[in-house]
Amino acid sequence: MGDPSGFLKITKRELPVRRPVPLRLLDWKEVYEDFDDESLKGQASRCMDCGIPFCHNGCPLGNLIPEWNDLVFKDRWRDAIDRLHATNNFPEFTGRLCPAPCEGSCVLGINQDPVTIKQVEVEIIDHAFDNGWVVPVYPTQLTGKKIAVVGSGPAGLAAAQQLTRAGHSVTVFERDDRVGGLLRYGIPEFKMEKRHVDRRLAQMTAEGTVFKTGVNVGVDITAAELRAQFDAVVLSGGATDRRDLPIPGRELEGIYQAMEYLPQANRVQQGDQITDAEGLPPINARGKKVIIIGGGDTGADCLGTAHRQGAESIHQFEIMPRPPHERADTTPWPTYPLMFRVSSAHEEGGERVYSVNTEKFVGENGKLTGLHGHEVEFKAGRFEKVEGSDFTMDADIVFLAMGFVGSEKPGLLTDLGVEFDQRQNVKRNSDWETNVPGVFVAGDMGRGQSLIVWAIAEGRSCAAAVDTYLDGETALPSPIRPTDLPQR
Ligand SMILES: Cc1cc2nc3c(=O)[nH]c(=O)nc-3n(C[C@H](O)[C@H](O)[C@H](O)COP(=O)(O)OP(=O)(O)OC[C@H]3O[C@@H](n4cnc5c(N)ncnc54)[C@H](O)[C@@H]3O)c2cc1C
Repeated sequence: MGDPSGFLKITKRELPVRRPVPLRLLDWKEVYEDFDDESLKGQASRCMDCGIPFCHNGCPLGNLIPEWNDLVFKDRWRDAIDRLHATNNFPEFTGRLCPAPCEGSCVLGINQDPVTIKQVEVEIIDHAFDNGWVVPVYPTQLTGKKIAVVGSGPAGLAAAQQLTRAGHSVTVFERDDRVGGLLRYGIPEFKMEKRHVDRRLAQMTAEGTVFKTGVNVGVDITAAELRAQFDAVVLSGGATDRRDLPIPGRELEGIYQAMEYLPQANRVQQGDQITDAEGLPPINARGKKVIIIGGGDTGADCLGTAHRQGAESIHQFEIMPRPPHERADTTPWPTYPLMFRVSSAHEEGGERVYSVNTEKFVGENGKLTGLHGHEVEFKAGRFEKVEGSDFTMDADIVFLAMGFVGSEKPGLLTDLGVEFDQRQNVKRNSDWETNVPGVFVAGDMGRGQSLIVWAIAEGRSCAAAVDTYLDGETALPSPIRPTDLPQR
């Protein structure tokens, strides 16, 4: 380590400041100010020579965190990006968006605040792009094998980049009009500006990966055609089947799924006009009383989006009790800590309401006007109504942000004849292969709704399995096996 006692000298964990709320609500740009290099180097020096870096295990990608912390401390940024890229294709995504399980397992975190690993990560890749160090990496020879990747989220992109670099001819099919999956149309601009996706795609295109957008595989190209035209198929279509809330009044106008709302807001930021030609009216929270049902990250993304659109009021409902301010006893170090978190969207306003259940929606002339709910207590594994806690709340718009139940079954998956596991995700064996020979699966489609870092790790590992299937051996790394895992 550059400074083995750095953690004794710099005891305070520091992060870049967020731009002032009134200012950042005027635009959609990322919320953080720049972080100066000297402060960052100081933070990197807090990484101890801890002997067993549990952060390696905390990170599904197995990122070599102490090594690049040390390189940053020594101002060796170019070596740092090489170490980082050795395990992570897209640190610009994880450095901005990952909940950082690595920090949850940082040894320093046992009795101090953990190292700012995620911030070091994002600064390394931003320096690399700024200095022109992120250049195409070409395969040394071409294999002549053709691979179809279905879906262009982080899992599909990671698999595609690895397989292209291994010399295969890779085509990524995406049914949306732009590439990126949830990176593009789920995650709002204020969490990650889309220019980061675009510049990585420029590298991938230069390397030889072919992207075909507006192609709904299973409809525009049949399952049989896909298998006939390609030597192997990677399914990475995500877990796009949304959980609904089938209670009285659900049919009222004004109740939308989060993933009906967020893509529209993202499209506006990309310069698109929203028309109801896409089957939905334009959804805008300006001047509206908004209730978000679901207290997770997707709900927080709706919250930040509604703030920027100028909602009159916003409540975010969560059925679970409020988590503790410190690491919960149920998630001891080095596991990922369950605790109360304040995202940038929460800092911007709105009210979080815990331990509530929504009973019915009410409206007039077919339009939503509010909802009825009550408080709940979690007892013996189930929610029980707290008698006498009934309430009503006015609402013009409700967003359902309650997660996803798995992949979409009709169409491609049914036509291919893939089997599903007990959780209704596409079933795969320990080599990432489905029951259909030559058809593999990675990311949320096989894992269920999860995180970007897991999607990248699955994409990388699945690529190694596909390469072995095609060539009998592989030099590609495989950070995880399908059986590894907690689900988040
Ligand atoms: C609103 C929201 C915010 C999130 N924020 C975070 C975050 O901050 N940090 C984090 O770590 N995780 C976050 N997540 C989770 C993370 O985005 C996902 O775990 C990750 O994107 C999964 O990657 P994937 O490649 O498996 O699938 P996806 O990103 O879902 O991509 C799948 C792609 O496949 C395409 N597709 C599906 N079927 C077909 C077909 N038949 N033909 C062609 N294309 C098809 C879809 O259009 C989609 O573009 C968030 C999720 C949501 C919904």
